[in-house]
Parts: sequence; structure tokens; C-alpha cells
Amino acid sequence: MRLLSKKSGLLTAALLASFAGMSQNIQNLPVPLEIQKAYSNETRATNGKPGAKYWQNHSDYKIQVELNPATRQLSGTEQVVYTNNSPNRLSSLVIRLYPDIFKKDANRDEREIDPSDLNDEGVTIESVTVNGNEVKTQRNGTNMFVTLKSGLETGQKLTLDVKWSYLIPAKTHIREGLYFKSSYMVAYWYPQIAVYDDIDGWDRQDYTGQKEFYNDFNNYDVDITVPASHLVWATGEWQNPEKILSPEILDRYKGSRTSDQVVRIVTAEDREKGGITIAKSGKHTYHFKAEHVPDFVFASSDTYLWDGSSAVADSKTGRRTAVAAVYHPSSKDFYDVCRYAKQCVEYFSTYLPGVPFPYPNETVFNGSGGMEFPMFVNDGSYPPAFAAEVTAHEIAHTYFPFYMGINERKYAWMDEGWAQTLPNWMEFQIDGMPKKFMPQQTNAAYFDQFAGKEQEQPMMVPTNLLTGTAYTFATYMRPSQAYTFCGIC
Ligand SMILES: [Zn+2]
Repeated sequence: MRLLSKKSGLLTAALLASFAGMSQNIQNLPVPLEIQKAYSNETRATNGKPGAKYWQNHSDYKIQVELNPATRQLSGTEQVVYTNNSPNRLSSLVIRLYPDIFKKDANRDEREIDPSDLNDEGVTIESVTVNGNEVKTQRNGTNMFVTLKSGLETGQKLTLDVKWSYLIPAKTHIREGLYFKSSYMVAYWYPQIAVYDDIDGWDRQDYTGQKEFYNDFNNYDVDITVPASHLVWATGEWQNPEKILSPEILDRYKGSRTSDQVVRIVTAEDREKGGITIAKSGKHTYHFKAEHVPDFVFASSDTYLWDGSSAVADSKTGRRTAVAAVYHPSSKDFYDVCRYAKQCVEYFSTYLPGVPFPYPNETVFNGSGGMEFPMFVNDGSYPPAFAAEVTAHEIAHTYFPFYMGINERKYAWMDEGWAQTLPNWMEFQIDGMPKKFMPQQTNAAYFDQFAGKEQEQPMMVPTNLLTGTAYTFATYMRPSQAYTFCGIC
């Protein structure tokens, strides 16, 4: 998430060298007992690489979901094949029900929630089965606990089926919601199996608003049904554009995916004229697939415009990433956001961190604030220079936390620090970035207000124990300052 308020491939090497140097001093730092145990169990290593016995569990999601934009109702069924790669027998599952944050009695961080969006029951769960059998469930906070009568042994799989629905908030935007009366950003939405890891076992933390990501790398196969007037954009690769788009729009969409120019796929004139999709009335179903990603989101609108382009993500293979911006016609800055997104992919792939952009798509949705998701961003509308900066920050999150699989719920500095830092030199690369804006100086000035004071807590204090300025400085400014001191950027 974005706070509102020349070094190419060498940088990756410099980064690794810097931390290699640091790791030599690790014995002088306090190491929490859980981490010491992980070192002795060889699931983790002091150099930051996975240990010889490292493991992760895995989910394959198949979801069918329908959005009714008129009522804000989201209804879904999902089947999850969950694999236990841990050395332990699991006697329960922990399932995150993020929208339960809107329950009247939910525990929330300092987040403004419009009273009209509060409700009594949160997510309505119609049924839950494991391997076809009804199971006992219990809800507490934003989690649902499922008892596994027979347990799940090491190396075994189970099939979880859940049928659910909830109302998307009308006025509140934590990371998602309703925009411009009929456009939706749908995130933190489906019943999601929490992470079971070698440090904590199940992650049982509630979603209280401030925390963001900690997920396994999963596969998603998602069908999204919306009224014929609505377009859908999502994480992953779109499987059936030929069945949805009218021939002219389809041509533009396909052309944009290999184009160096920004293609106006859907313009204001198209919206006025109609005929964007094959279906003229009723509903249509979009199909997306995404592999090895920590989450899946989608957006839907009957008014937004749609620009597309592409960038070479890997110069060795010529592999391209398709980029897009989808936005309300009144958002003046967004007419340039697709171009910013293309330049971001090129910059991150070749300059800093100098690692080919790992995803086939990146879509920037015009919503609120600044929030990253795998292959997706939800950004508000801003003056042009700031719009470029927010776009860059959120797309930078592709590497941290998504590509690296960071536990941001406990160590948000591991990704916000990088997202704050990676775009530092982009001001010289991207048209629209403020040329007199020196992010390093701004960051140093913020850090100076806080360094060494009581609110500066040790680096490994988990994020969920920090609030207010202690959280902000520890998560954004201090790590970014450290990377600057290391000479990384
Ligand atoms: Zn961020």
C-alpha cells in the first residue's frame, strides 16, 4: 500500500553482497526463539535462503462467483484442493473471511468505516464440506476454523468446498469496494485458506485493516459472472476474450498485448455507442487462470474506459507483459497511467531490481488510495506527477511481497521498504515524474524526525505489534533509508 502523504543488474548483486555482509554479524543480533528453532530444524537459513528442509503448503482454487452490481451482492462457490507439505499432521484448517472486518463487533485498526457498511453476520456461509462431508466450523474474529476429523497427514490432499456470499461495502474503501456508483474492485473476498508454516503453524491473526499479505503460492481458476453491460479485469490470464468481446474491441485488446503504443481499447465513444461485448443483455461469464500467485482479485465496471499496451519484460527471450489502465472518464491523470505502467515494467525489469517482471499482466484500476495485488493495482486519481509515483510504488510491490512471498503481516518493512525504494530513480526515466522531486531526500527527512527516539522499535518487532507513527516509520522510511545507506539506490 502507498502512504499518501545506473544501477541495473549490478544492483541485484550489490543487494545480495550488502546482506551477505550483514549476515556475518547476525550472531550479534537477538534472534527470536521461533527463528532459532527454524534454523536448527533447517527449514530456514541465516543467509536468507530457504533451508534444506524448507516447505510450503499449497492450494488449487476453482471459484465460480457472481457479482450483482445493483445489489452489491457477491455470491460464490469454491472448491479448494489443499496439499499438506508440512511434516505435521493437521487436525484443523484456518480459513480467512476478510469481509468479516465489516461486522459490527469486529476488531479494527484505525480505519474509517462508514456506519452504513457495518453488518451483523459478515460473510454468509451456506455450506462447508471436506472431501464431500459436512464439517464442524467455528468462527472467531475474521477466521473460520474447520475441524478435520480424520486429520490431514503429511503429503496428503483434501478437497474443501465452500458456498458463500456477502455485501460489498457501498461507501468504505479499505482496499476494495464500490466506485463511481457502479464500478467494483473486488479484493480480500473469497474464503481463503490461511498459511500454515514452520514458524507459527497456522497464521491465526485476524484481518484488522492494517495487515496486508501472507499467502502460499497458489493456483486459481476463476469464473466471474456479471451483467452483459459490465467488463471484467482480473489477476491472471484471460481464457475466453473471444466469447466476450465484439470483434472490433477484441482486435484492439489483442493488438495492445504486443503493442509498444498505448491502444485505447474502450473509449468514451465506445461506451456511448455500445456494442463492446457480444452479449447485449443478460449475463456473461469471464474465465481467468493464474498460477503460482499469492492472491487473486478482479474488478468490474459498466462505465470505465480501458487502455492497453505492453512492455518487454525479458530482453533475452522477448517475453512481454501486457499492461492496462481502467478508469472513470473523469479521472484526467488516468489517460496516462497505462503509459506509466508500461514504463514501470521496463524500468523494474532492466534497471532496478533488474529482474524480468514475473507476471504476464499488470492492470491499474482507478479506485482509491494506492494498493497492490498480484498483477493488479487499485489507485486513486491524483495530479499527474503523483499519479506516476503511486503507479510506480504499487507496481514495485510485484517483487516484494508477491514474487518473494514475504510475510508482510509480521514484517511489512520487508516489502514496503523496497516499494518505497525501487522507484527512486524512476523520476529520471518516466515522463510525468516530478523532476525536482528527490524521494531519497524526502525519506531521509522523515526518518530524521524519528531515528533513535522511543518510537523506534527494533527491526524484528512484528508489524502487528506496531501502530501509528511507529508502524509507518519502521515499515516505510527506515528500511528505505537502510537501502540507500547500503548504496543500493
Ligand atoms: Zn506499499
